Amino acid sequence: MTMTQSPALDTSNFVFDKLVQYDYEQIVMVQDKATGLKGIIAIHNTVLGPGLGGTRMYNYKNEQDAIVDVLRLSRGMTFKAAISGLNLGGAKAVLIGDPNKLKSEAYFRKFGRFIENLNGKYITAEDVGTTTKDMEYIAMETENVVGLPEIQGGGGDPSPVTAYGVYLGMKASAKEAYGSDSLAGKTVLVEGVGKVGTYLVELLAKENANILVADVYEPSLKNVVENYGAQIVPLENVFDAKMDIYAPCALGATVNANSIAKMNCQIIAGAANNQLANEESDSELINAKGILYAPDFLINAGGLINVYTEWNGYNRDIAMSNTDHIYNQTLEIFKTAASENIGTQKAAMKLAQARIDGIAKVHSTY
Ligand code: NAD
Repeated sequence: MTMTQSPALDTSNFVFDKLVQYDYEQIVMVQDKATGLKGIIAIHNTVLGPGLGGTRMYNYKNEQDAIVDVLRLSRGMTFKAAISGLNLGGAKAVLIGDPNKLKSEAYFRKFGRFIENLNGKYITAEDVGTTTKDMEYIAMETENVVGLPEIQGGGGDPSPVTAYGVYLGMKASAKEAYGSDSLAGKTVLVEGVGKVGTYLVELLAKENANILVADVYEPSLKNVVENYGAQIVPLENVFDAKMDIYAPCALGATVNANSIAKMNCQIIAGAANNQLANEESDSELINAKGILYAPDFLINAGGLINVYTEWNGYNRDIAMSNTDHIYNQTLEIFKTAASENIGTQKAAMKLAQARIDGIAKVHSTY
């Protein structure tokens, strides 16, 4: 059969079209029959340094969903590192399959060997569906992994640092919207009270905010109700609730045309990655409603800052103090957005891109 006769070949350019559209450097597909490993590593941009981003393990419906996810997430990491002043590029990995069925020592060590083969261009960490234990297995095969337990010189769970950054971004947003950064008496709805959401609730409770919470998981809700006096809002009523601040801390894309139409708040500031379902159009809808959006990749960078701190000998206090800049950076973005009459998401992307472009020129000569 000649090339032109092959009916089974999919001739769409779906992957390369995506790679070209947002200028990805490399995408690597890895598989190992013995362990059932099927993974994709996407390296978006390494101008600022090695691409760092966690490994997400998820039972994707199909390969296309996995590719779209890893591309979207790795690009987000480029901007997150750039705007945070870190010398890191953007990358991410996804493992396709049910974490409860596939995980084993051999599975993660094999994945570690694939990471090792990239010679430091990609550094991994934990993400949704993977744990520090999995990272320990990866570390047996490569040094290019961060987020190890503190006892092994790692930074441990990054969630408290992420929550602290989100809290600072929220306070900066309050300063911009209300003239004072106090959250006392403000009603904040935290959607998703997992690791980050729960730490955020703790910080909000200390500041005497009124806390509303929504989650699919009853035990997590019970914990924040009993320990921090939060009030539960049924998930289907999240956008009917009266609130000052909406803090998405579960999944991405909860800020979309449908939800924005219902939203009754002045500020959106949360931890979830990729909160806007559509970067451009949702940004415009938010603006039109007069809602102030604290860009997710700016205010949820605490976790990345935390692992970055591991390079010089991890210290939680240093990680926390390196996260402090999120407050001023958020105010700076609001200023730029207002003066250039653009959305806050666009203003943040512009600043991140300007740093990448500036450093690319620095590296253009020996
Ligand atoms: P997590 O898995 O600990 O918590 C997520 C919570 O969301 C869980 O309680 C879960 O029950 C809940 N949830 C799931 N589906 C939901 C739904 N449809 N509606 C409402 N709640 C739902 O995760 P996490 O580490 O707390 O991360 C939360 C978000 O922040 C994620 O989007 C993650 O990508 C992002 N993030 C986390 C970090 C970090 O340091 N952990 C860093 C940056 C960004």
